[in-house]
Amino acid sequence: SFTALVIRDVEGKPRAGFEQLTLADLPDNDVLVEISHSSLNYKDGLAVSGKGRIARRLPMVAGIDLAGVVVESRVPEWQPGDRVVVNGWGLSETEWGGYSRFQRIKPGHLTRLPEGFSAAEAMAIGTAGYTAALCVLALEDWGQIAPGAGEVLVTGAAGGVGSVAVSLLAKRGYRVTAATGRPEQHDFLRDLGVSAFVERAELAAPGKMLQAERWTGAVDTVGSTTLANVLAQTCYGGAVTACGLAGGADLPGSVMPHILRGVALLGIDSVMAPAAKRDRAWAYLAEHLDRAKLAELTTVAPVSALPELARKIVAGETRGRTVIEIA
Ligand code: NAP
Repeated sequence: SFTALVIRDVEGKPRAGFEQLTLADLPDNDVLVEISHSSLNYKDGLAVSGKGRIARRLPMVAGIDLAGVVVESRVPEWQPGDRVVVNGWGLSETEWGGYSRFQRIKPGHLTRLPEGFSAAEAMAIGTAGYTAALCVLALEDWGQIAPGAGEVLVTGAAGGVGSVAVSLLAKRGYRVTAATGRPEQHDFLRDLGVSAFVERAELAAPGKMLQAERWTGAVDTVGSTTLANVLAQTCYGGAVTACGLAGGADLPGSVMPHILRGVALLGIDSVMAPAAKRDRAWAYLAEHLDRAKLAELTTVAPVSALPELARKIVAGETRGRTVIEIA
């Protein structure tokens, strides 16, 4: 038997706890993976702490990310020994996830671990980091940001998506401003390549429909008034990616930035992103993510720390990315 973090219904509420499972308990999917590493994302924090209803079926093994090795396969495209990653695809929502020594996975949900990344590095990136890559790619595809021309803003900068986005943008040569609520993380963010800072509170306060133009592009992980202000401060023709709701799921803004300045709001979803988009994001990370910076922004923790870490990430107290060691 092996240990897994399972969410069950306890008196009408989702409650996470460690349990001993056997292979016979796992869902009947075609590919059996032995998991070596998983990771901690904001959504995992919501699921494990019970602060959000992430699991849509119970019981549910939590963990939206996993990396490991195929041990058995009923399909020809995956063979024992293949090194694989899963990000999203409903893990921890409708599909059993990565906080388990073994998991049976649908073949279409597996991504080949890119050459040059260890399983631990792939989980240091995880959903948050791959989402950061989707955000930066969306800004580059929009075509307005250019190295040396103007500032790119990252909100929730000391978090998982934020810190990987900062690292990628800095490595690509963009001037990066970080919005953070934690001044004690300024040195950490400067090391990752940030050149200027904005106070989180300044962006969180309700603002005017149009404000002075400051950003050629922005990666927003916070939502709500922060995203409304970021849009109102984006330069003519610029773009903002929206992937997160750490500050709230509402968007109390106006159409003015869009209709007077042609500003684009680019929605980013990692969970159901098609395989081609994922492969492009992972290839981009393999090419542009500085491995030393990735190590700097990563903390490693055992599975037993998950309940406490879940509470911390939802409270905004974790920094960068957290790898969960399974094996
Ligand atoms: P994270 O590590 O907790 O980062 C979130 C950061 O937001 C925090 O570190 C903090 O940064 C800031 N923050 C926290 N509470 C805040 C508040 N009340 N108001 C304003 N800022 C606050 O989480 P993550 O895993 O990077 O995820 C970030 C967000 O993106 C989450 O909402 C997550 O659900 C979302 N996400 C979405 C997708 C997708 O597919 N769309 C994929 C991945 C993540 P500072 O301390 O620096 O201010």
